[in-house]
Amino acid sequence: MSDCLFCKIIAGEIPSSKVYEDDLVLAFRDIAPQAPTHILVIPKAHISSVSAINGENSAVVAHIFEVIAKVAAQEGLTGGYRVVSNCGDHAGQTVHHLHFHILGGRQLTLEMA
Ligand code: 5GP
Ligand code: ZN
Repeated sequence: MSDCLFCKIIAGEIPSSKVYEDDLVLAFRDIAPQAPTHILVIPKAHISSVSAINGENSAVVAHIFEVIAKVAAQEGLTGGYRVVSNCGDHAGQTVHHLHFHILGGRQLTLEMA
């Protein structure tokens, strides 16, 4: 998707602070962190949101959750962390490329972050 911010990050057209990368997935630090550790994990293939996950593309989502566990351990989030994916307008999704926020490093409230 030529006009997608996260596709541009994957392509290296926009710089990011990468914490993990493989053939299918990229994890990088959020530009506006809401917690001491705030990382985004995204599939390299463009999927617009959770609502676009289906039988054809869901394998990467399982892989993303393996990566989330690995990255959380790498970041030392032994006290726990939250995984969030905003889907659509009511959730406040601002980038329409599937992403999972990893939030940790402080006691989180019941608010999103
Ligand atoms: P959403 O609001 O769609 O759930 O999350 C989008 C996230 O992307 C936000 O937390 C926002 O701070 C982050 N973000 C937006 N633009 C950039 C960018 O250019 N680089 C990085 N690293 N994060 C970004
Ligand atoms: Zn994209």
